Amino acid sequence: MSSKKPKKGILLKIAQLGNPVLRKKARAVKNVKDKKVQSLINDLIVKVMDVDGVGISAPQVYKSLRISIIASHPNPRYPNAPKMKPTAIVNPKILSTSKAKIKDWEGCLSIPGIRGLVPRHKSIKVEYFTRDGQKKQKVFKDFIARIFQHEYDHLKGIIFLDRLKSIRNIITEKEYQKLVTKK
Ligand code: ZN
Repeated sequence: MSSKKPKKGILLKIAQLGNPVLRKKARAVKNVKDKKVQSLINDLIVKVMDVDGVGISAPQVYKSLRISIIASHPNPRYPNAPKMKPTAIVNPKILSTSKAKIKDWEGCLSIPGIRGLVPRHKSIKVEYFTRDGQKKQKVFKDFIARIFQHEYDHLKGIIFLDRLKSIRNIITEKEYQKLVTKK
């Protein structure tokens, strides 16, 4: 058998800024064990790894469902990111948030070429279902909390540009790379 056929997830197209799917409120997943849901989770994980991203949400691949993947790992854009296995987050809720917020640079697969300085809660307590249908409660902080909040927003039709305090907090990817290499 030829192994040349690319993994299915790589072929998923990413919805770009302006596409209405990014502004829709995503539907809750009714049955996480459903074959279609499981294969969507597989495809999202393949896609986020293929593009070396740290997170992706189902609406970004035109599936308006409450599923996100968090896949933090160090890469040229986030050299200090903690390493974790790509994790599916299904039907998430944010239960509580720290008062403290921190600003840091974010990008988005759906908004290529730019970065924005986005304030996010430093820590959050969350509840979600795993891909095996287990309910989890966890506290995330710093970078993982940031990814979670970014992806959670996607499920509500919110993008990081909506969170900026000023349009002046937008820079190009090229200028961002200069900042990262300076650090
Ligand atoms: Zn995004």
